[in-house]
Amino acid sequence: MNVDHLDRRGAGAASGRPQGAGGTARPPVRGPAVFLDKDGTVLQDVPYNADPGRMRFEPGARAGLARLARLGMPLIVISNQPGIGLGKIAPQDLVAVRNRLSDMFREAGAALAGFYYCPHHPRATVARYACLCACRKPAPGLLRLAAACHDVDLRQSWFVGDILDDVEAGRRAGCRTILLDNGHETEWLAGAWRIPERIEPDLDAASRWISVQCPRTGSGGTA
Ligand SMILES: [Zn+2]
Repeated sequence: MNVDHLDRRGAGAASGRPQGAGGTARPPVRGPAVFLDKDGTVLQDVPYNADPGRMRFEPGARAGLARLARLGMPLIVISNQPGIGLGKIAPQDLVAVRNRLSDMFREAGAALAGFYYCPHHPRATVARYACLCACRKPAPGLLRLAAACHDVDLRQSWFVGDILDDVEAGRRAGCRTILLDNGHETEWLAGAWRIPERIEPDLDAASRWISVQCPRTGSGGTA
């Protein structure tokens, strides 16, 4: 799996390590996380945008991030970025996007724990990104990678997105899922993996539901 991502902390260190593996290494304590789609969920969707100056919160996202931060779970962004494969943006452009996103999380009282993206597209014009990969949502590859890097228990975790491909990726990874019904899903392709546990109007409402369902983990929260 050829995965580009910008969060290198722990990358590779935990990948492929089976749970309960023997030997001298102590198995990591895996906890829940909240995975978030970027465009149309946290940010207003500006197609192929790599300009930090055009990044704006979706309605409800700032309040939602603030509430999620108080739960103490890592907040990890999972994004399809086919603009890279289609030659519309360069991978290095996403460094500024990631930095601005991190600042926006901080301004909302939260912390961005990781930013993972898929640069591929089946009809990419940049040859190295033209493939059927395992990381482009609705595939769950990025969620599994992020979970390995951050010692996340996917079954305790949530994925919040604004289209059914997000729901499918989340469910295939074993997460609980919330669909934001904010008008961005237009095709409504049905499927067994594409039924969310919950439908909410925005991230503020979704965060309220998660906070009701999940006890605080106690790490990183600020009461
Ligand atoms: Zn991919």
